[in-house]
Parts: sequence; structure tokens; C-alpha cells
Amino acid sequence: ELEISLKVVIVGNGAVGKSSMIQRFCKGTYTRDYKKTIGVDFLEREIEVDGEDVRLMLWDTAGQEEFDAITAAYYRGAHACVLAYSSTDRDSFDAIPSWKLKVENECGEIPTVLVQNKIDLVEQCVVDPDEAERLGRALGCKLLRTSVKEDIGVMSVFRHLASRCLHE
Ligand code: GDP
Ligand code: MG
Repeated sequence: ELEISLKVVIVGNGAVGKSSMIQRFCKGTYTRDYKKTIGVDFLEREIEVDGEDVRLMLWDTAGQEEFDAITAAYYRGAHACVLAYSSTDRDSFDAIPSWKLKVENECGEIPTVLVQNKIDLVEQCVVDPDEAERLGRALGCKLLRTSVKEDIGVMSVFRHLASRCLHE
């Protein structure tokens, strides 16, 4: 039987929770001081989506995003994308359109989801919900909200992308 493998890139400013999201989804764990495993480009997990077994390869960066130094190899062959920002970091929200452009320049139009992480930190939220919805509409991306810490919404992000990829 044909196995479907999808490369998913996760982009956004540093500290929004990208590595934590990958670790949560692929290993089921969460730590406050997550350090990328040196030498590992991606983690993977297989899930069933619409009756198909889909292998998702989630590509992480080693912090190059903070120096705007992600290489073309990171994006090469990506099938889907997560644009991530943090509820508590206004700059990370404002940077989303430029992250979208970078992905588009390297990958063209691929299924992409906008993700607001750290929704457990409601009191410190600096992004108005309507504004976030508007940005999602402007970019043509569904907006999903997650708390990687509390394990809320993470599965939905990857199910949504896998399903989009299967039906395109
Ligand atoms: P990256 O730089 O985007 O890869 O971000 P990291 O995954 O390294 O996460 C940065 C920090 O945010 C770490 O201390 C994480 O534990 C923390 N973090 C990640 N997700 C959440 C979340 O949903 N809620 C809270 N409160 N903290 C989170
Ligand atoms: Mg990271």
C-alpha cells in the first residue's frame, strides 16, 4: 500500500513554541527548557486521516529563525506549513505576513495554517481575537489556537493540514 509522507515546515519568530509543538505532537512530551536535539532535522509521527495512513515529518530549526538565516534546504519539498505566533508576543504576530512570504517564495502556495500558541496565558494576551481572524482571512489561512503546554489544539493543527494535503 502506498504510504503518504508529508513534509511540514513550522515557521515563526523565536520562542513562540515551534520546537515545543513538534515535540508535543511527535513525542507527547513538554518541557520548559526544550533544546533541539543536535543533528536531527525533523521528528515524525504517523496518524490516520480520512481513512489514510499519513506520515508527517515536522521540520524544526535550530534557532536560525532569530537571525533570519533559515536556508532553502529547510523549505525544500515542503507540502504544508504552520505559521506560528505567540499570544504574548506582539512582534511575533506582526511578523506573520513576512513569514508567509518567505514560505511562498520557496514553496509556492501550499496548505498553510495560522496558529496562535500559548492560549493558556490569557491574561498576558496582546493580540485582539478579531485582528487575528482578520489576518487569517487576509492571508487565506485558517486560524487555529493552541496551548502546547496544556496540550490543547495541537492535534487539530496537523489533522487539518494533512486533510488539506490529501484533498488537493
Ligand atoms: P521556538 O523558539 O519557537 O522553538 O519556541 P520553544 O518551543 O523553544 O518555546 C519557547 C518557550 O515557550 C519555552 O520555554 C516553552 O516551554 C514555552 N512554551 C511553548 N509553548 C507554550 C504554551 O503553549 N504555553 C506556555 N505558557 N509556554 C509555552
Ligand atoms: Mg525552536
